[in-house]
Amino acid sequence: MKKLAQWPEFLRGSVASVCARCNRARCICEKQSSRLAYRLTYKDHDQQTHIVYVPVDQLPRIRKMISNYSGLRRLIEELIAINIEVFKKESRS
Ligand SMILES: [Zn+2]
Repeated sequence: MKKLAQWPEFLRGSVASVCARCNRARCICEKQSSRLAYRLTYKDHDQQTHIVYVPVDQLPRIRKMISNYSGLRRLIEELIAINIEVFKKESRS
C-alpha cells in the first residue's frame, strides 16, 4: 500500500500537439507556422471527451501524471490479485 503514495499526481488521457493557430493536428493554415500548442484529451466518468490546453512548460508534468496513472493502474491490478488470494485463504479457514 505504501507504493500508492509514489504517485501523488495522476490523470488519464493523452497529449497531442496541434497547430497553435488553427488548432488542428494537421495544419490547414495557408502559411504554416511551426508554432505548436499542446492539448490533453480525456474522458470523464460519463465517457464525455474533454480537451484541456497544456502550456509548454507544463508538458513534462502532464506526461508524468499520465505515466503515474498507468503505474497506479498496474499497482491496483496487482493489489486485486493479492486481495483475491487473501480472500481465498481466509474463506477456507
Ligand atoms: Zn495551422
